[in-house]
Amino acid sequence: MLSGDISKLISCFSRLPGMGYRSAVRIVVYLLRKKHSVMEYFIKTLESVYENSKICEVCGNVDVADKCSICSDLKRDGSTICVVADISDLWSIEKAGFYRGRYHVLGNKLSAINGVMPEDLNIDRLYNRIKSSKEIREVIIALSADIDGQTTVFFVNDKIKDLGVKITTLSQGIPIGSELEYLDDGTIIAAFNQRRDV
Ligand SMILES: [Zn+2]
Repeated sequence: MLSGDISKLISCFSRLPGMGYRSAVRIVVYLLRKKHSVMEYFIKTLESVYENSKICEVCGNVDVADKCSICSDLKRDGSTICVVADISDLWSIEKAGFYRGRYHVLGNKLSAINGVMPEDLNIDRLYNRIKSSKEIREVIIALSADIDGQTTVFFVNDKIKDLGVKITTLSQGIPIGSELEYLDDGTIIAAFNQRRDV
């Protein structure tokens, strides 16, 4: 019989995305074994991220400053904005290391089944961002190839189409239904290079 707190810790881990009970047990056992090296560092990092992380007021990314490191990097190409559904998609594209423009995080995809409505998306800020900018020339809508992703592509396109910027979307090389965050770097790069007009 596991004691209360250890049992609670396993339950915390097992509720994380993609994690089951057995993986949670393995992690907790590992942390307990490496209490003074791994677990201590883990707690301090988690606490620091909890205390300091905030949503970027420009693009919706999460960082430890009001304006994220991408938005405040003057060397990035301000003429291109890549629209993504979630922060994890942004981080996947950054990890692939080829894209030098800026981003906009919608925070979700439209979904009839999950009850996600237009007002749940960070879309007005995107509209105002493009409207008030003189340098933005292309908006790349980088969403998954499933129904929710494609519905959202058309919705975003409809919202910003009168602003006079080029609007493109990723090539259909992305496997249907797949989320950007699960794709390998090569597939993401190919989907960007073969992007097409909406
Ligand atoms: Zn930002």
